[in-house]
Amino acid sequence: MAEAGNVFDVVILGGGSGGYACAFRAADLGLNVALIEKAEVGGTCLHRGCIPTKALLHAAEVADLSRESASFGVNTILNGIDMPGVNKYKDGVVAGLYKGLQGIVKARKITFVAGEGVLSAPNQVTVNGEVYTGRNVVLATGSAPKSLPGLQIDGQRIISSDHALKLDRVPASVVVLGGGVIGCEFASVYKSFGAEVTIVEFLPHLVPLEDENSSKLLERAFRRRGIKFEIDNGFTGVDYTDTGVRVHTAKGKDFDAELLLVAVGRGPVSAGLGFEQAGVQTDRGYVKVNEYCQTSVQNVYAVGDLIPTLQLAHVGFAEGILVAEHIAGLNPRPVDYDGVPRVTYSNPEVASCGLTEARAAEKFGAEHVKTLSYNLAGNGKSKILKTQGEVKLVQIQGVAGEDDRVVGIHMVGDRVGELVAEAQLIYNWDATPLDVAQFIHAHPTQGEALGEAHLALAGKPLHVHD
Ligand SMILES: Cc1cc2nc3c(=O)[nH]c(=O)nc-3n(C[C@H](O)[C@H](O)[C@H](O)COP(=O)(O)OP(=O)(O)OC[C@H]3O[C@@H](n4cnc5c(N)ncnc54)[C@H](O)[C@@H]3O)c2cc1C
Repeated sequence: MAEAGNVFDVVILGGGSGGYACAFRAADLGLNVALIEKAEVGGTCLHRGCIPTKALLHAAEVADLSRESASFGVNTILNGIDMPGVNKYKDGVVAGLYKGLQGIVKARKITFVAGEGVLSAPNQVTVNGEVYTGRNVVLATGSAPKSLPGLQIDGQRIISSDHALKLDRVPASVVVLGGGVIGCEFASVYKSFGAEVTIVEFLPHLVPLEDENSSKLLERAFRRRGIKFEIDNGFTGVDYTDTGVRVHTAKGKDFDAELLLVAVGRGPVSAGLGFEQAGVQTDRGYVKVNEYCQTSVQNVYAVGDLIPTLQLAHVGFAEGILVAEHIAGLNPRPVDYDGVPRVTYSNPEVASCGLTEARAAEKFGAEHVKTLSYNLAGNGKSKILKTQGEVKLVQIQGVAGEDDRVVGIHMVGDRVGELVAEAQLIYNWDATPLDVAQFIHAHPTQGEALGEAHLALAGKPLHVHD
């Protein structure tokens, strides 16, 4: 029987990005909230995802800069990568943010329940025999690394991103299985740290969800960096060798390496948690929801990697906030998933918001789609940084009932991840090229490349060659 003290307005199962964002917003709105977490608040993003990988990528950038410093007239010698030192730096960043997050949980007077929860009834979560009743329940149990049939991740020579973040050495060589965001980020780190890297990707391009032009630019840059990749070729098996692993592929090519990093995606954490028994419908493990993240059961919501939307921390934040506001009766707007900014933080970075050219053509008809690519070679700050890449705009023209707005922004180059903030304003505020052309961009910044691209698309090119 539920005790009176264990009844809450909102009971949240899982304290990752989606769960804690929901808890914070709900608490702000005056609701009393229980947040149930079996490990650490912050979830994958803080402890095994966004933050530690970006710390590794920053250390990788420092290594690259040291290696290339003479080209800037600064003489340094890269003496090697002290992996315990890198890990100390990375873990320090995570620990600081973790402490901050725990402080916020306390400050917002959220009841934090440590332990593994199961949905024991549509409005109840049981943790260590204790029942927590929610007028609303939010499922936010996240995701875990996936593998392929017959491919056993042993944590030693065949590893997932979770293991990769704990490596105490730089491997001599790595095969990265999967050329999506996580695979490309780790490939980039390992190459900067001095490993031989080969990516094996089943689809015809790296970062296959991005605009094809971005994929091609990243592939060109990786080729220049000596990162090998085998695209359009599937994994068929792996054997252990004396020194590591031998990876076999459908096209008959084998790749030897010290380690195989499996980065073929992540699957929802929903098995054995009582969801189906409580009437919550799932599809291949993902909880099915409507645009307000409501499940098939009244007053039960689901957010984050557990539902089949983009697996990104900021999507989890947005969905968590949406749910809290919906529960509080605020009538929030559903998330426009096309308007979510996406960044791959490799060297170079890939960033985008809105539709790819292919999707825009599908949606509006190819005859209504115009594109413009602005080469970073014409951008002073990019030249100073010695980075190459492009800003590509996708605009629609002459669509009935629509302004001739920019529906896609795709960027490749060092630091373009920071430009995605402006890109998402352009997309989400339905801006036309002329709207953006009015804005002055500081010189010399990489942001100017966005401004110049819009000037050119508006018929007022500045630093552009014919
Ligand atoms: C290597 C890597 C790099 C990434 N980089 C980025 C990035 O740069 N930017 C970005 O936006 N996204 C990134 N992501 C994705 C991001 O981490 C996820 O989208 C995000 O963490 C999803 O949040 P979530 O709340 O849905 O799930 P999670 O963060 O997975 O949180 C779920 C929580 O639920 C808890 N839990 C599960 N089951 C139970 C249970 N039964 N009882 C109690 N608690 C339970 C878990 O312990 C966990 O803390 C990355 C992911 C990885 C793996």
